[in-house]
Amino acid sequence: MSRSKHPVKHLVVIGVGLIGGSVARALKHAGFVGRVTGVGRSRENLDRARELGIIDHWTHDIAEAVHDADMVLVAVPMGAYDRVFAELAKALPEKAVVTDAGSTKQHAIEMAQKHLADCSRFIPAHPIAGTEQSGAEASFAELFEDRLCILTPTEDADAESIAVVTEMWNATKSRVMSMDAKRHDDFLASVSHLPHLAAFALVNEVRKRGDEEYNPFQFAAGGFRDFTRIASSSPEMWRDIALSNRNALSANIDALQAELAEMKCALESGDGEKLLQSFSAAKKARDEWLEEHGDSL
Ligand code: NAD
Repeated sequence: MSRSKHPVKHLVVIGVGLIGGSVARALKHAGFVGRVTGVGRSRENLDRARELGIIDHWTHDIAEAVHDADMVLVAVPMGAYDRVFAELAKALPEKAVVTDAGSTKQHAIEMAQKHLADCSRFIPAHPIAGTEQSGAEASFAELFEDRLCILTPTEDADAESIAVVTEMWNATKSRVMSMDAKRHDDFLASVSHLPHLAAFALVNEVRKRGDEEYNPFQFAAGGFRDFTRIASSSPEMWRDIALSNRNALSANIDALQAELAEMKCALESGDGEKLLQSFSAAKKARDEWLEEHGDSL
């Protein structure tokens, strides 16, 4: 790793979308990286990323891009990890450090272990920041400011690589913390993946209620809009996230169904006290969360 002018001389970003593009912008802005090469599939997106100054060069070929990389950021959808790590392994220099931005961490580690000769320099990361937009055009340097970025290094991770990756995510102005990959996936299933599935499910359920006379969405207001905002996220990205965390997500669906079943029981038996207790406990927990963390959301 070069320690000359920039902490990282040559960064390769595989997947120059909302997240990859935002990391590249933030690191250039911070003077953390010298040269940035983008790798992707869409020529139009890569040309636009170069025009916007997010990357300096681009190629469709992962092996060509990474052969002289100091650091590689994998920022592709979870469903592309298998193919991307297989390509990466063909030309990754021994000393290069690899990190990623994927939303599920056990799958990222499995793919790295499947393909890389030495996984000790792969330091998985998940920046908890995003929007419903995708592509380089939607990226912006401030996306990670004051947002959590969770690193999930394995037990055999190289200490120097952890330090450099921590420094990299710090340079995006994230608040960096570390945890075990399984715990990460369990927690994220409940606070991120399940809410997305619930939002998709609710919109579908309402969608199916339309008839020739009325469109049910015409009666929806701010509450429905707020609850379902995340149903406007990329369907492909969320398919990949759901499949790559299927066990934790499935357990969380059971838990939500149990919670709803209790509410249904209280409803059917006219147990207002039970409903009040349940709604009040949820309101208290949400209000406390917002009071403590609202400023950084
Ligand atoms: P995006 O669609 O904006 O960008 C993904 C980019 O990867 C696209 O440019 C696409 O062309 C490229 N790509 C897809 N397959 C590829 C392949 N095989 N080789 C090279 N490039 C390929 O998506 P995004 O929001 O930037 O998400 C990227 C990753 O970050 C995903 O793993 C996602 O789970 C994770 N993430 C997303 C968010 C969010 O809110 N958007 C937040 C945190 C983490």
